[in-house]
Amino acid sequence: MKPATFNYLRPSSLEEAVHYLSEYGEDAKVLSGGQSLIPLLNMRLSTPKYLIDIGRTGGLNYIQEDGESLVIGALTKHRDIEKSELVKEKCPLLSEAIRWVGHEQIRNRGTVGGSIAHGDPSAELPCVLTALRGEIVIADVNGEEIVSPEEFFLTYMLTSLQPDQLVKEIRFPIIKPTSGSAFVEVARRHGDFGLVEVAAVVELNEAGGFSEVKLAIGGVNSVPTPLVDVERLLVGKEPTEEIYKEASDLTMKMVEPESDLHGTAEYRRELSGTMVIRALKQATIRAQGGRVM
Ligand SMILES: Cc1cc2nc3c(=O)[nH]c(=O)nc-3n(C[C@H](O)[C@H](O)[C@H](O)COP(=O)(O)OP(=O)(O)OC[C@H]3O[C@@H](n4cnc5c(N)ncnc54)[C@H](O)[C@@H]3O)c2cc1C
Repeated sequence: MKPATFNYLRPSSLEEAVHYLSEYGEDAKVLSGGQSLIPLLNMRLSTPKYLIDIGRTGGLNYIQEDGESLVIGALTKHRDIEKSELVKEKCPLLSEAIRWVGHEQIRNRGTVGGSIAHGDPSAELPCVLTALRGEIVIADVNGEEIVSPEEFFLTYMLTSLQPDQLVKEIRFPIIKPTSGSAFVEVARRHGDFGLVEVAAVVELNEAGGFSEVKLAIGGVNSVPTPLVDVERLLVGKEPTEEIYKEASDLTMKMVEPESDLHGTAEYRRELSGTMVIRALKQATIRAQGGRVM
């Protein structure tokens, strides 16, 4: 199918983009890489009167270290993140997760801002951002606002973005070199959205116990979810089979998956527990200086 008729606007600066949004936001859609929006337009599931193509808006394509964070401009392509040595060094969790996003062709066009704004609960980047307790920088004609993933992701494909706002930048906290991280996912086919995915970062104390744990799960709730109770359970404990089992059991109680064509709720619940153990074990091995194949 072809999309319904729309007016095409192509701002050349962020100022122009937010100006268009303040004028037409209620009837408009922002276009970045188009990897999610174009199929929706073609199927006429989305019929905006205005398409604001920010693809050539200068200054929104960057990956920079800024204090404790890696700041990534909204128009940065998935592929640029995948290839970035800075990301590999400062946020290996993001490097590992980005390879799970669709296929190479999609990563060549899809953007980090688009992935976050789209708000798909199975998408990898929202899960990583949630685990790391990152930040989303939102812009409108009045300036900028910084929100947490928990404030931003409201429910399935719905975010706190207002019609006159756009995502300008994402801030991923830098992972300490002494920490270990892991991103694990199960998808039915290579390149599909995950049925379940888990992002984990662990820091160990001198005795080898967990001193800090960050965990989030995607694909099983209506938003990517930080597993705060599991994190609390683990801190101060030794990484033993018993504690992994407890973490897994608690995770299965915390998730509320639904059945769909790809798997039953029970299957997803079981998988959640298994994937939490897998992510924790891999992150722990890395924190101990080991390699995970
Ligand atoms: C076959 C296929 C497989 C895929 N598999 C995966 C996968 O496994 N994991 C995954 O995460 N994604 C997957 N995707 C989606 C892909 O990652 C998209 O790139 C991403 O979801 C959206 O990025 P985009 O730049 O293409 O955004 P667009 O498609 O341009 O926009 C998506 C939505 O976000 C809004 N938007 C875009 N940019 C902004 C902004 N800066 N501010 C405010 N709103 C904005 C748009 O208005 C639209 O509603 C897949 C896509 C396809 C076609």
